[in-house]
Amino acid sequence: MASDTDSQHTWYLADEEATLRFGAAMATVLAPPALVFLEGDLGAGKTTLSRGLLRGLGHDGGVKSPTYTLVEPYTIDEIAVFHFDLYRVSDGAELAYLGLDDYFSMPAILLVEWPERGAGWLGNPDWQVALSPRGEGRQVTVGATSPGGVGWLTALVDQLGHGI
Ligand code: ADP
Ligand code: MG
Repeated sequence: MASDTDSQHTWYLADEEATLRFGAAMATVLAPPALVFLEGDLGAGKTTLSRGLLRGLGHDGGVKSPTYTLVEPYTIDEIAVFHFDLYRVSDGAELAYLGLDDYFSMPAILLVEWPERGAGWLGNPDWQVALSPRGEGRQVTVGATSPGGVGWLTALVDQLGHGI
């Protein structure tokens, strides 16, 4: 595992509740415009983390996986959040064909599962969040890939320390 730096930090998420709490903590530091890539295999916890983030922002309805709709929109206290799952997209040009590329210039919080499927069409992320299995739980690494993203990561580390 890479060691933590100003632009990368790893936490252990022991169970689903920890993933939800981590998403809620993310919600306290992110602000629009934010582009967050959520990386990891099927079942890694990307949708669970998104659910925690949306609930953390104050959304009290359901959060369903956008696997079939490709995008689920939310407005919470005037903050727009678009949650994407690009698993079923075969290449980035298909996003433009579907008219989805316009979302990526909106002043919103954009959460993108399977961003590699839209490569070249999404813009530069502020965070690349990678989830993977570890023991009974998950490991999450946040890589900050913009100046704003580094500031948000610093705020997240200040808030969470090394444990969650
Ligand atoms: P993805 O969107 O990456 O395909 P989901 O969030 O839909 O994954 O599903 C992840 C599965 O793993 C769910 O069954 C969830 O309960 C479980 N899960 C989420 N976080 C953890 C964790 N930290 N430890 C163990 N299980 C987890
Ligand atoms: Mg998912």
